[in-house]
Amino acid sequence: MIQRKTKIVATLGPASSSEEMIARMIVAGVDVVRLNFSHGSAEEHIHRAGLVRSIAVKLGRPVGVLCDLQGPKIRIGKFASGSITLAPGDRFVLDAACELGDQQRVGLDYKNLPQEVEAGAVLLLDDGRVVMTVEKVLGAEIHCTVTTGGILSNNKGINRQGGGLSAAALTTKDRQDIKTAVALEADFIALSFPRCRKDVDEARKLVKKAGGTASIVAKIERAEAVEALEEIIDAADVIMVARGDLGVEVGDAAVPGLQKRMIRMARAQNKVVITATQMMESMITNPIPTRAEVSDVANAVLDGTDAVMLSAESAIGQYPLQAVSAMHRVCLEAEREYHVQDNVRRGRQVFQRVDEAIAMAAIYTARHLKVKAIAALTQSGASAQWLSRGDAEVPIYALSPEKVARRKLTLYRGVYPYPIDQGGKDRDQILREMESILLRHAVIQPGDLVLLTFGEPIGQAGDTNTMRIIKVGGAAVA
Ligand code: PGA
Ligand code: MN
Repeated sequence: MIQRKTKIVATLGPASSSEEMIARMIVAGVDVVRLNFSHGSAEEHIHRAGLVRSIAVKLGRPVGVLCDLQGPKIRIGKFASGSITLAPGDRFVLDAACELGDQQRVGLDYKNLPQEVEAGAVLLLDDGRVVMTVEKVLGAEIHCTVTTGGILSNNKGINRQGGGLSAAALTTKDRQDIKTAVALEADFIALSFPRCRKDVDEARKLVKKAGGTASIVAKIERAEAVEALEEIIDAADVIMVARGDLGVEVGDAAVPGLQKRMIRMARAQNKVVITATQMMESMITNPIPTRAEVSDVANAVLDGTDAVMLSAESAIGQYPLQAVSAMHRVCLEAEREYHVQDNVRRGRQVFQRVDEAIAMAAIYTARHLKVKAIAALTQSGASAQWLSRGDAEVPIYALSPEKVARRKLTLYRGVYPYPIDQGGKDRDQILREMESILLRHAVIQPGDLVLLTFGEPIGQAGDTNTMRIIKVGGAAVA
């Protein structure tokens, strides 16, 4: 059985909220669903998360839930007419005191913006579709000249070229949404527009205070975050290459290089990375992707990303299922061309942890002895995480009695979580059970060599400290 190593994250929205569609998307390959808190009510997200959980149980598939906070996205207000059309050379005022916009001006949800821009600043609206240069600031009014015209409609986002807006990463709405995310038992909570380590630490504190165990995803989408990349990766569990806003702030041409840098750094720091936004954009209205999109998804795989993500394609597109299938097929094919990143040698690095050392030894062994798979018995998921970071060439089966650990492992490249029941079994019975789980799922055959990792004494929570090679169906594991 050929398994896809790269994971697929799909955003749920109006196009993908029926029980039937969610089930079909999971069967087609979705590993993690994303609930986008920029849209929809708390009740909607809770309802969707509940549907996902029950479908996952029915299908016997672990599925992670990622709640993506809106963050301090700065937006314009509404227009009396819903939208206007601006032409190059037009004068336009962004007015913090304006209630309802017209052809001359529009309001702002972030009232401090006039204090944070100056003459000469370039403002990009609606992901850069409309561009204006600041001429002067008069009190609450930012007077601009349009340089790139187009249609501007209600509540579109504003970015400043080069970054530099100081809006705090966690808004009042985000703080409330963290409570909702914890209540629906989110496996991952994504923080939008963090600037530095402090923003990530604060989000983690709030999640913990609310009683949650979610991993923290830092979306890299601000120019400042690129400067502080190493410390943000260190503070977070996962990073997202958030190419939409990032491209607006740093310029589109900088994004591919930054994507490669971010993936390389995340992996080197033993963290997980999701590549996101516009991957299959044309599939919002077309049943097949463009060659350029196929290439983009494949290149993220070749860069070593853990996961690729669908946004509007699956949330509001006409072909959500086809978008998942296309990603699945493109990832599988690209993985055949992927060359393992040699994280095992890790220079002269001294391992800090026993489970890390065992994982690296397991990968070294798996590369030099023809084992078919690695099976890791894991309570917290940590040993499977280490194995994944080492970039094993063989599949890593993470056998865990903990559903929370299994759901988090859905995001790791090359890791396949399965439940294991250790109750009342002695050591040899548990090792046999590991073998028979793999046999039951037809991922190994009698005669194959399989590498097992576990912690002795077995059945007790603690770090992995043992590695063992077995021949499937062979003599009793002693
Ligand atoms: P968003 O984040 O879709 O929430 O804006 C991703 C991005 O900016 O690329
Ligand atoms: Mn964004």
